[in-house]
Amino acid sequence: MIAASSRLTVISGCASGIGAAVRTRLESMGDRVIGVDIKDAEIIADLASAAGREAAIAEVTEQGVGRLDQLVLCAGLGPQATPPSRIVAVNYFGAVDLLDGLFPLLEHGEDPSVVVISSNSAQILPLDEHPLVNAMLDGDAAQACAIADAEDNPVLAYMGSKNALGKAVRRRAVSWGKAGIRLNAVAPGPVRTPLLQAGLDDPRIGDAIRAFQVPLGRFGEPEEVAALMVFLLGPDAAWIHGSIIYIDGGSDAVVRPDRY
Ligand code: NAD
Repeated sequence: MIAASSRLTVISGCASGIGAAVRTRLESMGDRVIGVDIKDAEIIADLASAAGREAAIAEVTEQGVGRLDQLVLCAGLGPQATPPSRIVAVNYFGAVDLLDGLFPLLEHGEDPSVVVISSNSAQILPLDEHPLVNAMLDGDAAQACAIADAEDNPVLAYMGSKNALGKAVRRRAVSWGKAGIRLNAVAPGPVRTPLLQAGLDDPRIGDAIRAFQVPLGRFGEPEEVAALMVFLLGPDAAWIHGSIIYIDGGSDAVVRPDRY
């Protein structure tokens, strides 16, 4: 049971990696957390399906206190997952449907703010106007999943899902800002989590990840990304809204030094 006076945060993907690190940090600050994950969470839901997403939103409403102060959306699959449609379903629709479904509760929150996870890989391919990205942004899950499986390229599905998610955040900046809800994204490079390890272990993409240039010379730690996300949620970030903040040891500056 959540005490009505505590700051209430919902975290998807709380069972592992970055989401688990955000949970640890927020709980150490006294927040009440409701976790949503396919395993090891207060709310068990498969965010790959529309039914799972609807059930998660209904459960948050049920377990909550009539408002939501913070929302952190970390649930995701890496570029080695199959089929590609599942990457699209979890990474894009599993985030955007929770964003929009929990908006009414956030409107009643105290200084409400939201952080989602895109990726610094979202800008590597030329994805503007790509049919896969457009289908996601149109909210057409069936079409987006069909395109992803026809392309049969999990890396495209991953980068496309993170590209579309960043755009979904920026496209909501006006309406969410007017509602008083801050909404931002982080765009990490390779972070040492089970998701990254699965990519490194995959013969199709492991060498490409190892070859990825990180000027600071190492992968990131989940706690480093969690620290940025918690900063973005809090009062010191009160004028940051509609932004996508890179946290990648300098990799994005290597890929596109003259664009930002
Ligand atoms: P992780 O595998 O440690 O954690 C992902 C979490 O999502 C897990 O708890 C998992 O159970 C949950 N999840 C997966 N599928 C789900 C489903 N269908 N329904 C509900 N929950 C589901 O990975 P991580 O690295 O901590 O990833 C967190 C987010 O960060 C992901 O969105 C990922 O794409 C993004 N990201 C990670 C990296 C990286 O290098 N680790 C880089 C950029 C972006």
